[in-house]
Amino acid sequence: MSKGNISKIDNLGRVVIPKSIRKALNIEHNDQISMYVEGENLVISKGFQICGICESKNIKFQLGKKFLCSKCIEEIKNL
Ligand SMILES: [Zn+2]
Repeated sequence: MSKGNISKIDNLGRVVIPKSIRKALNIEHNDQISMYVEGENLVISKGFQICGICESKNIKFQLGKKFLCSKCIEEIKNL
């Protein structure tokens, strides 16, 4: 991304994704996005994340760059 955009987060924690970014990524009304923390950055990705083990869309946890569902987390705990 070459252009920098600055937005403010409102009192409910919402932020507007600028139209230029939505257009560049072809993000439309009601599209699903996912968010995660990478170092000190908030990363917003188009689409949804799937569990790195079972491919479930019911993501509850992130480990590094991988996402895990609650079922797999429970299975890992029981190892
Ligand atoms: Zn899983």
